[in-house]
Amino acid sequence: MAASDSFETRLFINGEFRPSRDNKLFRVNNPTTGEIIAQDHLTSPVHEASEGDVDDAVAAAKAAFPTWRDLSPAERGGYLRRFADLLLEAHETLAQIEAVSSGKPVSQFFESFVAADFFRYFSEAGWNAQGTTSLHTRDHLNLSLRAPYGVVACITPWNLPILLFAYKVAPALAAGNTVVHKSSEKSPLAATFLATLVAKAGFPSGVLNMISGYGSPAGSSLASHLQVRCLSFTGSPQTGQKIQAAAAASNMKHVHLELGGKSPSLVFHDADIQAAAEQTATSLTFLSGQSCIANSRIYIQDSVADEFIALFKSAFSSARAGNPLDAAVSRGPQIDEQQHDRIKSYIEIGQRDGTLTLGGGSGPGLFIEPTVIEDITETSPLMQEEVFGPVVAINRFHTEAEAINYANQSEFGLYASVFTRDLDRAVRVSKLLEAGTVAVNCTSPTMAMDMPFGGYKTSGVGREGYLHSLDNFLETKSILMRIGRA
Ligand code: NAD
Repeated sequence: MAASDSFETRLFINGEFRPSRDNKLFRVNNPTTGEIIAQDHLTSPVHEASEGDVDDAVAAAKAAFPTWRDLSPAERGGYLRRFADLLLEAHETLAQIEAVSSGKPVSQFFESFVAADFFRYFSEAGWNAQGTTSLHTRDHLNLSLRAPYGVVACITPWNLPILLFAYKVAPALAAGNTVVHKSSEKSPLAATFLATLVAKAGFPSGVLNMISGYGSPAGSSLASHLQVRCLSFTGSPQTGQKIQAAAAASNMKHVHLELGGKSPSLVFHDADIQAAAEQTATSLTFLSGQSCIANSRIYIQDSVADEFIALFKSAFSSARAGNPLDAAVSRGPQIDEQQHDRIKSYIEIGQRDGTLTLGGGSGPGLFIEPTVIEDITETSPLMQEEVFGPVVAINRFHTEAEAINYANQSEFGLYASVFTRDLDRAVRVSKLLEAGTVAVNCTSPTMAMDMPFGGYKTSGVGREGYLHSLDNFLETKSILMRIGRA
């Protein structure tokens, strides 16, 4: 994608592209070069949704709901399948958009494949929205039905804009809901391009509306909108709290939250140390550490600590940094200056509360070196807060109980890894870790999309992943039928 390439950046509401009501536009920078991604001589090309645009999008979704709800799962599935095919055809373009506008290396780009899988799966899965029947007494036949909510809002973060769009939108539509999707202001171009694919797939007008815009007013208007009945959100815990409060204060809409993480890796003396070092390093270099499931805390058993740390550092620093459009590059910049500066401030905290033993530097531009801080006080913000960058904290432990205790000291509980060759230990430790997913002898980005995914504690409310996602978008209704006596 050259900077001069033309792409649709208006709002997609009721089946058509239109400018924002206030004619407000915002810019997107290339995080690698710092250049503004311009279009048609405009330096601020992306249309920003106002509260009025949100109202329009919700009204369009509400009007489209009865017809979409009453289609058969097979009819709805046809649209989802067409969209999956278009996603695969657009793989190269999406990879380039993400490289240029989010700094994501093309060598690591996989989102369109997973997103297409999701849409394919949900093109069939609508049939699973089934209830139960029971002959409760001889006088009653009782039915429970699964029914869509109506208008669903989906709000996604900047780090995985295509994958997380699919995670939410595909099951919401398959369940018979209509949708308003809002992308992140930090990476809106992938979503605006997806809107062109939505138009091509021919979804009936109003079924899937796509808006760009900021947390406020666009996101907050969706969260408090009286006609939105269900909201699925992925993002930071701070925003999740605001959304939950707005949902409760408005119409008690059903809210599903996928939030941040501070995922620990526990590496025991009996593990394959080389493999553990490589896996944990990959978890941190993937998306330059901008992943909710990055294993950003490593606890290493003291007897193998020196060996592990040397291998880990070598793997962590081997990722080649450069322009994400270069296929040989596997480490890109951070998304923007705000995120870059935030990570730098955590590195300073790490130097205060522990010992910097690798990296710590930054540049050119928004790149940050793979950074290791060792022997940090457990109460340090670096151990307790999400950094969302290539910075890892490594502490040592002596006993299994100590390792579990350290791992569980975090307010987060999204993901954890355990490295050991002892099966009993793997099971014992997995059962005690407070995390929605425990990976044994692997780390992120290994994910099983067919398993429930979500967080304990402040990492979220609810679970996503294939049929679990379908459940998120369905109400349950019980119908009690009295049978007249003959
Ligand atoms: P963010 O919370 O700043 O923004 C996420 C989205 O919410 C954006 O679209 C933003 O515009 C919108 N938003 C902001 N304020 C809002 C408000 N008041 N009301 C409604 N919407 C609002 O998060 P981010 O910086 O884009 O993403 C990074 C965070 O996302 C990290 O914490 C990361 O761990 C998390 N994340 C979680 C998962 C998961 O599956 N658990 C996956 C990816 C990212």
